Amino acid sequence: MPLLERARAGFANAFGQEPLGVAFAPGRVNLIGEHVDYNDGLVLPMPITAGTAVAWGPAGADTVEAVALDFNQARDRFNPATAAPLKPPGWESYVRGMAQLAGQSGVALAITGSIPQGSGLSSSASMCVAVGRALAAAAQAAIPDPAELAQAARQVEHDWAGVHCGIMDQMAVAAGQPGAALLLDCRTLQTRQIALPADWAVMVVQSGVVRELASGHYNARRSDCESAARQLGLPALRDADPAIIAAADLDPVVRRRALHVVQEIERVKAAVGAIETGDIESFGRLLRASHASLRDLFEVSVPQVDQLAELLNAAICRDGGARMTGGGFGGAVVAVLRADQVARVKAAVEQDYSAPGGARLSIMIEGAGGQAAGKLK
Ligand code: ADP
Ligand code: MG
Repeated sequence: MPLLERARAGFANAFGQEPLGVAFAPGRVNLIGEHVDYNDGLVLPMPITAGTAVAWGPAGADTVEAVALDFNQARDRFNPATAAPLKPPGWESYVRGMAQLAGQSGVALAITGSIPQGSGLSSSASMCVAVGRALAAAAQAAIPDPAELAQAARQVEHDWAGVHCGIMDQMAVAAGQPGAALLLDCRTLQTRQIALPADWAVMVVQSGVVRELASGHYNARRSDCESAARQLGLPALRDADPAIIAAADLDPVVRRRALHVVQEIERVKAAVGAIETGDIESFGRLLRASHASLRDLFEVSVPQVDQLAELLNAAICRDGGARMTGGGFGGAVVAVLRADQVARVKAAVEQDYSAPGGARLSIMIEGAGGQAAGKLK
């Protein structure tokens, strides 16, 4: 059943009436620019076909009722004015946070998604933005400004989920357009849509390694970066360069983290140039360099993900490249490659990669120009 229809039917089943509407937000895959958003850097994410649908309708005064269709119809019912963060956080936290920030009640929501959760494709940002859109529609408010919606969604990650993330995921989900990468300056929130050449494709392959304690690792990396900027006397690592880092008396670990960030920002700029000139070989080299840096300098990869990226890179050869995507410690690998190589590369991965525990391999193919080829497997 298509996603929006699943949300509609789930709402009708849970609340005994038809919803008044269904809101949607996509997930996103970050092509390049990893762990740089919270350093005020430049990033290049792209929305994906998979996303979150939220059916909405009326509920009693001072009440939000929510049902998580993907969590065995789990229910939550709260007054947004008095709701407080839950410990530990759960799916309800995102709904409560978004409703409280919107200052809105009298709404029933049914939520379902098609993004594998915890795999680096931002199911949480997608859910927050979809809930935000549903709340705005229910309030008959104007279509929310993408940057405002993104900022609310990030605040919810910080205050309600305890993840001190940057703004990339939320902006990619709220402002991204299908078939285009979104060049985002995380300092100014300026965006530029960079359409991918029609003969390029994006492939997202799940390693099958589930992230554990990811928010702890994430927050630790973030604090390494903040400490580097502080010691360099700069507002953020965005303002540093390799020479400044080399000259400073930094702890070796902090130095490695800082070097990754400044070089990764340069790679994003080069990647935009490669898209604009249709130079997929250069784009592929940048992806490989990004992976090596995340593995060796930022130390957020794991052997299974390295193996998957290597395998993809060997199969793709000069027709593009691959790297880990998302926060790390498991999750997905993204490959950007010539569209006419997709079938061959997909077959090679299916033959040579085995996900831990024999899990079924999940491969998503996203086409250029808004033409998503959909899930092949
Ligand atoms: P990701 O990288 O996918 O964003 P997170 O751990 O940040 O991983 O977010 C996953 C969490 O977001 C889930 O554990 C759940 O609480 C919430 N979530 C995402 N999608 C849904 C959904 N369709 N229904 C309910 N909760 C969801
Ligand atoms: Mg998330």
